[in-house]
Amino acid sequence: MKKYLRLLAAIFALACAFASPLAQAQTGPKVLVLYDAPSGTEFEKLGFAYAIMLRNLLGHFDAAADLVPVQQYTAGRINNYDATFYLGAYYDNQVPAAFLSDAATTAKKLVWFKYNIWQLAWNSAYNFQATRGFGFWGLRGLNGAPSSTNPAPGFFDSVSYKGKTFVKYYDYTNGAVNADPDIGVTGVTDAAKAQAVVMVNNPKSGESAPYIMRSGNFWYVADMPFSFIGPRDRYLVFSDILHDMLGIPHAESHKALIRLEDVGALVSVEAMKKLTDYLHNKRVPFSIATIPYYVDALGVYNGGVPQQVPLSQATNLKKALNYAVARGAEIVMHGYTHQYGNMRNPHTGVSGDDYEFWNIVANQPVAEDSVSWVSQRLSAGLNDLRSNGYNPMAWEAPHYHQSATASRTAATMFTTTYQRCVYFTADKPNFSGIGKDFGVGQIYAYPIAKDYYGQRIIPEALGNIEYDIRTIDPTSYYNYTWQDIVTNANYMLAVRDGYASFFFHPFWLEPELGVPGFEDFKKAIEGITQLGYSWVAPSTVR
Ligand SMILES: [Zn+2]
Ligand SMILES: [Zn+2]
Repeated sequence: MKKYLRLLAAIFALACAFASPLAQAQTGPKVLVLYDAPSGTEFEKLGFAYAIMLRNLLGHFDAAADLVPVQQYTAGRINNYDATFYLGAYYDNQVPAAFLSDAATTAKKLVWFKYNIWQLAWNSAYNFQATRGFGFWGLRGLNGAPSSTNPAPGFFDSVSYKGKTFVKYYDYTNGAVNADPDIGVTGVTDAAKAQAVVMVNNPKSGESAPYIMRSGNFWYVADMPFSFIGPRDRYLVFSDILHDMLGIPHAESHKALIRLEDVGALVSVEAMKKLTDYLHNKRVPFSIATIPYYVDALGVYNGGVPQQVPLSQATNLKKALNYAVARGAEIVMHGYTHQYGNMRNPHTGVSGDDYEFWNIVANQPVAEDSVSWVSQRLSAGLNDLRSNGYNPMAWEAPHYHQSATASRTAATMFTTTYQRCVYFTADKPNFSGIGKDFGVGQIYAYPIAKDYYGQRIIPEALGNIEYDIRTIDPTSYYNYTWQDIVTNANYMLAVRDGYASFFFHPFWLEPELGVPGFEDFKKAIEGITQLGYSWVAPSTVR
C-alpha cells in the first residue's frame, strides 16, 4: 500500500537566512523586532527563531520588519518605526539601558513578550506602574514538580478568548517535561490606563492572570506564543490580536480551502472522480497537490524493480486531473518527485512517501542543496506539468519541510505557495552545541504576503484525516478524525480573517483499506460549511 507520512501532528514546536530579494514596495508598517541572543548559551539563536516567526506573521500586514538582537539596540531607534516588538525569550537576559529607557517613555506602539519585563517594571527609575497603570508581580511556571504519580501538576495553560479555551501544549514522558509553562503575572493598578485584554487560567489551582495586558500603545504578552504551537493553540489568539496591536483592523471574513493531497501516477481514477463529483455538486472549489514525476527508486512497491513514470506516461493521473480541472480544480505542484535519490528518506524512496528537499535521516539539507539543484528540479516539474496542459498555481513543499535554499528558490519560481513551512536560523544549520541552530515549523491562520524566505503563503492549518491501519501499514498508527478537523475549524473562527484550510488523501477511499474515508471527508466538508465558512478556490485568496 502506498503510504504517506502524516504531517500534521498537533504540535509544531521549537526554530535561515536573509530577507527576500524581491524589490516590491512595502505599503504596510515599518516594524522593529528585538530578540534575546545570549552568546555562549545553547539558546543563543532560539530568540532569533521566534523573531522569524513573528516576522512571518507581520507579512500578513505587508510590514517591513528589521530583526535585531536587543543588545544592538541604540537609543532613539524605536522612533524610526511604527511598532516595536521585544521577544523576551531568555530568562534574565540583560536588556540594554538604552532600550529600557526608551521603553519606559515611548508613546509608540511597543509589545513586550514574557521575560525580563522586571528590568523595566521593578526599577524605580522608570516609574513603570505610574506610567502604564499596571504592575509586574513575578513569574509562574508549573504548579509543582511532575512525577510518575503526578505527571501533570498544572500551570497557566488555558487562554480564554472569544468564548473558546485555547490550551497550551504539555507533555511529560520518561521524566522529561516538553512544554513552555512559564508566564509573567501582571495586574492592573490604574484601570483608567490599563486593561487585561485576554486572561489565562490555571485550572488546577483555580487562579487566573492577564494573558495580554494593554496600556494604550504599550502591550505585554505574558507568554511566548510561538513555542509548541498547534491548531487549537493560543498562537491563534495572538494571530488575531496582532491586528489590534498594529492598528490594522482587517474585516471579519471566514473562508475555507480544501486540497486533495499527494496525487501522483498511481492515483485511483475512481476515487478522484468520486471526490471531484462530490465537490463539484456541492459547488466547493478545490485544488490538487500533484506530484509530476513518479519514482519508486528501490522498487519497494514493484517487486524490487525500480519504477519511474513521467507525467507524459501517467495515464491515470492525467485522466483524474483532466476530469477535475474540467470541474474547476486548480493544480498545486507538490514536489518534483516527492522523494530523494535512491535512499529511503526515511520510508521507501517512493514518491509521496519521502522528503525531497531535506535529508530527514541526517536532519540536514541534502548533499546537492543549492539554488541550481533546486531550480533544476522545480523547472523540470513545471515543464512536465505545462507540456501536459496543466498550469500550477502554487508550490507546496513535500512534507512541508524543505531547506532554506529550497524555500528561497521556490519563492523566485512561484508567485505563491500553499503550505506550512519550516524556518532555520542558518541556511546550513548545525543543531548541536553552544549557539546551535533551530528549525521551527509554522502554521498560518491567514495568508502571508511575504515570509522570511520571500514566499507568499496560502495557509493550511487544520490538518488532515488519518486512520490507524497499522496492521496494513505500520506507519499509519493513529486516528485524526473528521471531528478533529471541524473542531480545529471552530477554533479558527476566533481569528477574524482565519481560513479553515485542510487537506485529504484520496487513497483513503480505496476499498482494501476498510476505512470510511469518503463518508468522513463529506462530514468534514459539511461540518466546516455549517460553521459558516464559505469555500473558495486558492487562486482567489488575497
Ligand atoms: Zn488579517
Ligand atoms: Zn505530500
